[in-house]
Amino acid sequence: MSRAELEALGHQQMAPMQMIRAKCLDCCAGSADEVRKCVAITCPSWPARMGSNPWRAPPSEAQREAARRAAARLHGKGVDAGRGPAPRVASPLAGRE
Ligand code: SF4
Repeated sequence: MSRAELEALGHQQMAPMQMIRAKCLDCCAGSADEVRKCVAITCPSWPARMGSNPWRAPPSEAQREAARRAAARLHGKGVDAGRGPAPRVASPLAGRE
C-alpha cells in the first residue's frame, strides 16, 4: 500500500512507538490512566503501552553528551554558555568601505 493510499484513508505518518501508544489509547477509550493500569500483560503492546520502548538499549555516555550538545544548540546556548558573549572581532574591511 502506498503512502498516498494510506493518507487517502486518513492515516498520518507517525513513529512506531506513537502507533502503539495511539492503539492503546484507542483500546481504552482515550483514557491514559486506563492504559497505564492495563492488566492485559500478555498483549504484545503491553510493554510499550506508555509510549517508550523498554527493549531499547540505554544510551551510551557519548550519545548522552551528543544529546546535551544538541539541546544546548537548539536552545541557543553554546558549549561556552555562561562565560559571557563571544569576543567581537574587528572586520579587516573596517574603515575601507
Ligand atoms: S496493552 Fe492493554 S491498552 Fe494496549 S492494546 Fe493491549 S490491551 Fe489494549
